[in-house]
Amino acid sequence: MSSTVAVRFTAGTMSESRREAHLAGRPAPDTNPDFWETYCGIHIPAEIAEVSDRPAGMPCMACMMRLPAAGGFAVDARGS
Ligand SMILES: [Zn+2]
Repeated sequence: MSSTVAVRFTAGTMSESRREAHLAGRPAPDTNPDFWETYCGIHIPAEIAEVSDRPAGMPCMACMMRLPAAGGFAVDARGS
């Protein structure tokens, strides 16, 4: 299971140019975080966050640079 998910602002909440795909650590199962804390340090409120197992759109370079070496981006074959 990948320990990293892609998080970005949902469409309409932010200009398209600011909707980079940030990366965040996957929360523990059965928990619903109030916000996502990305690796680059921004907080995205859960109600306006689009979360996926793969980055969609422009990746956030600051997040990519902070990607944990061990966690990596692996496709989670279990689906979600
Ligand atoms: Zn970022």
